[in-house]
Amino acid sequence: ALDIGHDLGRAILNARTFEREHQLVEELQALDSYKGQLIATVAHELKNPLTSVMGHLEMLESSPDFSGTTRSSLHAMDRGARRMVRVIDDLLLLSKVGDAENPLIPVPVDLYRIVEEVVDLITVAATQKGVAVQVEKPVEPVVAAGDATELDRVCANLVSNAVKYTPDGGAVTVSLGRDGDEVLLTVTDEGIGISEQDVARLGTEFFRSSNPEAVAQPGTGLGLAIVSRVVARHHGRMEIESTLGAGSTFRVFLPAG
Ligand code: ADP
Repeated sequence: ALDIGHDLGRAILNARTFEREHQLVEELQALDSYKGQLIATVAHELKNPLTSVMGHLEMLESSPDFSGTTRSSLHAMDRGARRMVRVIDDLLLLSKVGDAENPLIPVPVDLYRIVEEVVDLITVAATQKGVAVQVEKPVEPVVAAGDATELDRVCANLVSNAVKYTPDGGAVTVSLGRDGDEVLLTVTDEGIGISEQDVARLGTEFFRSSNPEAVAQPGTGLGLAIVSRVVARHHGRMEIESTLGAGSTFRVFLPAG
């Protein structure tokens, strides 16, 4: 009888612990959803006035009334405003891809087309920096099941990071392949690399490495958070291999389309 009482006591205790844990998970989920809504609302509210500021700046910049220091101040304001728009757009995208009420509707997406566009857009800046970006053309079409706009951001964020964190003289290689039911996007660089500790934290919103060479580059820590959320909602996965001072390889596996 003693044993039965003891077991019953344990069972009740376990049930209570389970209930408490369940409650905690629900509370955390509610807080996370509140945080997402807050970020999205603030980003929306900031974007409208900022768009108006940029319109006025553009008007002033094209006016013949301004020259010299005034003109360069206007340029600096314009650059700052553009950067703010990029951060706001990243915040909006982050909340969109994390929103359970915005499910993914996968369609066949030709990844080579996306890679070509992304690399085209970044080539000028990369060349100016002394970084060569190479794309290995796949022998057969590589088609993923997903959302083209979101996959474009995955590719753009990985390639722009590779260029950003690779010093003058280094190379970045982008390749595509098929592996059974999955397709694979690989971005390799010869850059500053990432420590093992930092690799484990990549994808956390706002995380930036404290490596001085990384800190020297502008950034928000939102790029890889977007990548990991997009990859997760595509039921894909990402693998990161990196050696400090030698370079990094990011591999994204996605379901084939
Ligand atoms: P951001 O580049 O805006 O800081 P990301 O979310 O894209 O934000 O990246 C997070 C951090 O991961 C960066 O701050 C950088 O420290 C590190 N990182 C990302 N990609 C690379 C890379 N290819 N090589 C070295 N470090 C990288």
